[in-house]
Amino acid sequence: MKAPGHQEETAVEEAAGIEALPFPESLCHRCTAMRQVATKTSSFLMCTALPVKYPRQPVARCPAFTARGER
Ligand code: SF4
Repeated sequence: MKAPGHQEETAVEEAAGIEALPFPESLCHRCTAMRQVATKTSSFLMCTALPVKYPRQPVARCPAFTARGER
């Protein structure tokens, strides 16, 4: 059983996780097509929906955006 307020805590934790990623303001973080690619020194946001695998960041609008949890 989940404690009261669990959803709010999850949203806060998720936001904190996004803050730790590159371009936290990017729309890609809320998209099902985004994959994070990390090397020892860098982290990239890869798109699996567009021909351009590494779109210029931060993405503010995108015709291929699909919100997580809505597919
Ligand atoms: S489809 Fe658009 S919003 Fe989604 S990951 Fe690719 S570039 Fe970002």
